[in-house]
Amino acid sequence: QLSPRLESVASFVHRQKKLLDVGSDHALLPLALHKRGQIDEAVAGEVNQGPFEAAVKNIDAYGAASTITARHGDGLFVLHAEEAVDVVTICGMGGELIARLLTEGKSRLSGKERLVLQPNMAAASIRRFLIDHGYELVAEDVVQEGHRFYEVLAAESGDPYKPYQDVDRDAALLLGPFLLQQKKTAFIEKWKREYQEWERVLKALEHAADDEAVLQKRDELKRKMNIVEEA
Ligand code: SAM
Repeated sequence: QLSPRLESVASFVHRQKKLLDVGSDHALLPLALHKRGQIDEAVAGEVNQGPFEAAVKNIDAYGAASTITARHGDGLFVLHAEEAVDVVTICGMGGELIARLLTEGKSRLSGKERLVLQPNMAAASIRRFLIDHGYELVAEDVVQEGHRFYEVLAAESGDPYKPYQDVDRDAALLLGPFLLQQKKTAFIEKWKREYQEWERVLKALEHAADDEAVLQKRDELKRKMNIVEEA
């Protein structure tokens, strides 16, 4: 059983031969995908010793060691130089970290793999990464789990500008071109919550000294608030 967040990620994996799950922790996602027959084999990558050991233990406990391998290492570098996978999942980290892991590990990507990415924040960094590296965003979802909202982005090699045709690029980068169209309840609730938080920060900044950094921060908040108001 997966959480709603990982369930959404799983729904974007479809049917693939080989998965790399970066930052796999207990390897819950590869184990569930394998059990459901969505993948034939997987590498569960983990940089930290504790989660890596948890992944090894869990894979053994489920008798899945012949198809899922836990590897200890940083980001995409758990893959060997010529080792190809069909889908890469990176979930439960900040968007900037996910974009950094993909950028640093670019030599391990063929460009043909599907990427399914679930940032806990700053999804816009991922949308920018995809545009800069020739990946086309093909689907998005947003789910609520407890008090938190999670965005899930799926991308494949293609025309990176396609999802941004006929939409306001700034708005679509921040909110997500597909999510903006769908306007699910979770989407509306997420951005209402963000907006209220920005209002609070803006108010606090009114009392701060007017240095360059504060002015820039205020402008950035106002820019984002305008986008959300429009949406
Ligand atoms: N992916 C799982 C999920 O979504 O439920 C676990 C998310 S957990 C919050 C983030 C995991 O990423 C941690 O287990 C952490 O050790 C791992 N991690 C962080 N930086 C990493 C890196 N550079 N390479 C591989 N794993 C990393």
